[in-house]
Amino acid sequence: MKLTNQQPFIAGNWKMHKTIPEALDLVKTLGEQSSELEGVQLVVIPPFTSLSEVRKEIEGTSIRLGAQNLFWEEKGAYTGEVSPLMLKDAGCQYVVVGHSERRQYFGETDKTVNKKIKAVLAHGMVPIVCIGETIEEKKKGETIKKVGTQITEGLKELSEEEISRIIIAYEPIWAIGTGETATPSQAEEVHNFIREKLGESYGKEIASCAIILYGGSAKPANTFELLRKKDINGALVGGASLEAESFIQIAKEAIRGYKEKK
Ligand code: PEP
Repeated sequence: MKLTNQQPFIAGNWKMHKTIPEALDLVKTLGEQSSELEGVQLVVIPPFTSLSEVRKEIEGTSIRLGAQNLFWEEKGAYTGEVSPLMLKDAGCQYVVVGHSERRQYFGETDKTVNKKIKAVLAHGMVPIVCIGETIEEKKKGETIKKVGTQITEGLKELSEEEISRIIIAYEPIWAIGTGETATPSQAEEVHNFIREKLGESYGKEIASCAIILYGGSAKPANTFELLRKKDINGALVGGASLEAESFIQIAKEAIRGYKEKK
């Protein structure tokens, strides 16, 4: 799939929320409004259990499907894990890799993130690779160092062609689920660093076409100002993606912000 940042990209990470009927309710409402959201790339990322049902419900709309995690092997004796083959089969086009909650609670490291990215790419899906600093790192002025290392280690041994098929989400950990958002200029500074770093390593064209998302308490009230910033191409949305109204409002604000990009 060829990625473009000509339109904003808004992805809703539902985390461990929604039973199948609840998931269907939400995507039904999103589907009904999807014609109004033509200027935006919209992705829903439900838990594994509702992927197949959600896929049927969004068929024929512009909404696309993603998964929250995977294991890198195709099949085998890995109880409790889900493989890239299975996600592709379930209709996923995107897979979140290295979300801070997985790094924090499930021991993911830049090394496992790297393996997962390669597995997603090898199966023709798009990894949404999450990076970001803790509050302690921020206070010590180590944001750029942390994010830089996560990029270098996480994207190790990927070709330019592969890099052109990934999405990066900058998610300051202190802003996730806390209600506290990075200011648009704080976020832009890190996004700009990420784009420059991609440019140095893989060339200007890849850098300028890259989709770099912001994540961390994105909501209707802050999306416009964030998306106006030059290097912010969209948002990975947690809490505010669980209700159709706020998610749709975020998508609309994103379109508005993109039109006035500075
Ligand atoms: C996330 O889950 O990636 C996220 C950014 O969550 P929230 O929007 O709730 O902070």
